Amino acid sequence: MRKVFLDYNSTTPLSEEVLETMYPFFKNEFGNPSSRHSYGQKAMQAVDKARLQVASLIKSRPDEVIFTGSGTEANNLAVQGIGLNRTSCQKHIITSTVEHSSVFNTFEELENKGIKVTYLPVDKNGLASADELKKSITSHTQLVSLCLANNETGTVNDIKKISEITKEKGIFLHTDAVQAAGKMLVNVEELGVDMLTVSGHKLYGPKGVGALYIRRGVKLQPLMNGGGQERRLRPGTENVPAIAGLGQACEMAVENLEENMNYLKLLRERLEKGIINTIPKAKINCSSAKRINNTSNISFSGEINEAMLVKLDLKGIAVSIGSACSSGSEEPSRILSAMGLPRSELYGSLRFSVGLNNTAEDIDYTIKILNEIIN
Ligand SMILES: *Cc1c(COP(=O)(O)O)cnc(C)c1O
Repeated sequence: MRKVFLDYNSTTPLSEEVLETMYPFFKNEFGNPSSRHSYGQKAMQAVDKARLQVASLIKSRPDEVIFTGSGTEANNLAVQGIGLNRTSCQKHIITSTVEHSSVFNTFEELENKGIKVTYLPVDKNGLASADELKKSITSHTQLVSLCLANNETGTVNDIKKISEITKEKGIFLHTDAVQAAGKMLVNVEELGVDMLTVSGHKLYGPKGVGALYIRRGVKLQPLMNGGGQERRLRPGTENVPAIAGLGQACEMAVENLEENMNYLKLLRERLEKGIINTIPKAKINCSSAKRINNTSNISFSGEINEAMLVKLDLKGIAVSIGSACSSGSEEPSRILSAMGLPRSELYGSLRFSVGLNNTAEDIDYTIKILNEIIN
């Protein structure tokens, strides 16, 4: 049976070059980067190289990048680290209703601890408006966190426009760029952000490693106590193989960005055209917004997405309903709900996210099977 993985927003396979880069650090080059001897130095060199590679992906300085144990951890550090865990009175932070759970649930927790939170509403494309943001800012506002690209719909926020507002008001701006990195140009200077998150396993690197860009001069509180690694912001011995792998993945993402973006676009267009032309009730969500090239969220009105997912899986095709982090629950997607989708579309939506290992034949097979399932 053909196997077609169309869930690259949940994770990606490791690229061969990344695996090769990681391998020595599991074996002979196993040193602790904090050690002074040659073993340690070798390991530290690998971490420093990776820092340069991440920095070149996001166009920052290397000393503005720290490594974390995941994208989730980087998001937590960014949001909680802005001194919020000291005094909770009179502090206000802003996010949107369509953020990834690692941001959204962090805001909810802080809200439970007494911090004032605004969840910006979004339009049908999942976008929060700059005017709405402006209106919600008070003299106590400290942080705005909005994703660069949405993991369920692919919608890209105009972070540059948002940063003009936050800069003027002297508020920190964090963006979760986990889905954007490797699929569009990400430039921290152009975006004007103070903090930005990437994750290894969403760009053909390993799982369990992430990076947080922290603009020079921005002071964060660590989430944990321990040694002095990563400028004390992320204590604990560095995961050297994973960090080296993330670095390599970033380097390859920079080198091949244009080509990759074009290829993903080709595949997605083939998929969307094929579905729209053969399944009349299919509707592509957020298609009028700017999107990353690999993501297609499609509503099949009247169908049950759970059932479709299982039937597709039986034919070897992997897709998702919403994000992997919230599956298992019976609730419809929080993100699509926030966009105001009608009930029949909400329960009939699937996320297709294509990747570099997909082929045109994968797409054609998927369209054929979808037709069989729906008719
Ligand atoms: C996957 C994802 C994360 C979490 O990254 P992990 O490394 O899996 O913790 C955060 N934000 C977005 C938008 C994601 O897609």
